[in-house]
Amino acid sequence: MAFEFLTGRLQNNLKYFGGEQKFMLHQDVVKSFITLQSKAMRSGINLQIVSAYRSYEAQAKIWNDKVTGKRKIFDDQGQLVIPDELSEDELIDAICRFSAIPGASRHHWGTDLDIYDLNIKERTLVKLTEQEYQTDFEKLNLFLQDETSKENPNLLLPYDRDRGGIAVEPWHVSFQQVSSGFNDAYTIDIFKKNLTQSSFHLKDFIEDRLEEIFNRFVKNNLNSE
Ligand SMILES: [Zn+2]
Repeated sequence: MAFEFLTGRLQNNLKYFGGEQKFMLHQDVVKSFITLQSKAMRSGINLQIVSAYRSYEAQAKIWNDKVTGKRKIFDDQGQLVIPDELSEDELIDAICRFSAIPGASRHHWGTDLDIYDLNIKERTLVKLTEQEYQTDFEKLNLFLQDETSKENPNLLLPYDRDRGGIAVEPWHVSFQQVSSGFNDAYTIDIFKKNLTQSSFHLKDFIEDRLEEIFNRFVKNNLNSE
């Protein structure tokens, strides 16, 4: 699997997906997504995309803006985090809880999406918090849990519970018939090479903790069985 593709540096096999907002999805998940949308529609849910494919550059901008304070960082309690009050390592941990390291996001593959229910509110009003998914988007939340548990072996919720790395993200879905191969191909060597070829903020501090950060945040499996 090409390093450039896995780390969001190369747009490969991606297709624009409609709506008033154009998103890009891996061509092999488009059909699965439309099927999921139709099924949700029959349950009274208008399942739509908040975010799909994201390039390395887009992720690097999110990351750098959080490090420099241009974009807000929140803690688990929803309290604002002030970058200046944290050490470099604390800041990395705080950002990694909710945002991927550039070149290490599942969104780079086009197989993973953040979704919402347009019947409840418009995209611009969506916050993507756990609380929002327990209240406003409860119906969608339950629908996804139901799908993954029995109906749809292709659908994966990689962040359905807190494994000690990335926070619970019930809105993040993955089509694993395609994504599992990319996930397997994303080894620690890929992560290492990604850092070598990057220049985003705090990169050197991440390199110093390479293995720990890889297991905890990239593979998200610190406490997994
Ligand atoms: Zn996501």
